[in-house]
Amino acid sequence: MGGDPTTFGNLNPPDQVLQAVRDSIELLKSRSYGPGKGHQDVREAVAEYCSHQGPVTPDDVILCSGCSHAIEMAVTVLADAGQNILVPRPGFLIYRTLSEGLGIEIKYYNLLPDQQWIVDLEDLENQIDDKTAAIVIINPSNPCGSVYSKEHLTEILDVASRNCVPIIADEIYEHMVFSGNEYHAISSLSTDVPVLSCGGITKRFLVPGWRMGWVIIHDRQKIFEKEVREGLNNMTTRILGPSTLVQRALPAILQLTPQSFFDEVLLFLESQAKLAYEALRRIPGLRPVMPQGAMYMMIQIKMSLFPQFKSELQFVERLMSEQSVFCLPGKVNIK
Ligand SMILES: *Cc1c(COP(=O)(O)O)cnc(C)c1O
Repeated sequence: MGGDPTTFGNLNPPDQVLQAVRDSIELLKSRSYGPGKGHQDVREAVAEYCSHQGPVTPDDVILCSGCSHAIEMAVTVLADAGQNILVPRPGFLIYRTLSEGLGIEIKYYNLLPDQQWIVDLEDLENQIDDKTAAIVIINPSNPCGSVYSKEHLTEILDVASRNCVPIIADEIYEHMVFSGNEYHAISSLSTDVPVLSCGGITKRFLVPGWRMGWVIIHDRQKIFEKEVREGLNNMTTRILGPSTLVQRALPAILQLTPQSFFDEVLLFLESQAKLAYEALRRIPGLRPVMPQGAMYMMIQIKMSLFPQFKSELQFVERLMSEQSVFCLPGKVNIK
């Protein structure tokens, strides 16, 4: 599974977030079944929290069990068996895992390491065919740590618009950008391309185990009105929504977490990233790309300078067994 910021216990949510769940325990309502798409007042709080994404009403919000569940809903509702979705390479494994079981084909479009991992727009457009049901955009990116500019997001939207393909925006790292970079929700920049934005509290609030996420429907031209909106609502009846204990805490979590908490976490992540980058770039044969946000860094290994290793997989395995440094081999992300 992606990055788990809780592994070492040095990154913790603020008291306000922990208190919100303690308070929720005392509520009778936090023990009862909730509506499939989530409680109305909780969806109102999420709509407010996501207002930077464009106009969002509580009806546009569907609460999910983490962002993975949000992604599963978005992929399932947009693509039929036999169709395909386009995902970034390097990218995030869950798209393949989910899609294969549904008979949906995964097609990859390239990200460009020499340009801070932006999308190869020509490749993206070339991958689109008459069976393409959606384009997945992960911004800020896992595993690249890239953050796309407004201009680049607009270029991506142009490709989607020209080809009439909707976008699944994986924005679980929204707002998690380092100094000098700006985060823009792709949905906020389009007036025509329908977007399903997947998000949640997992990464920003450092609570991956609480399994709280959401899908936001952005559909300014009412293209999704019938099949997609109705489809998503129908799908929520399958598992009756995410845990009501965390749901009841969510408005307080979103409203009471102080900005200083986010600032401190980001400062820490950025200083760690810089430290790692500065050390790694001095090592002959390793080429890190300095991340602009999120929690990851991709490092290119020039294998010819490491003849004692047969593959990069062996390289990262030995890194683990000899130095207890855990890295994912790029192939996991690239294949
Ligand atoms: C962590 C992660 C997710 C999944 O988040 P959960 O809320 O834990 O399900 C989805 N997409 C990306 C890119 C991630 O890194």
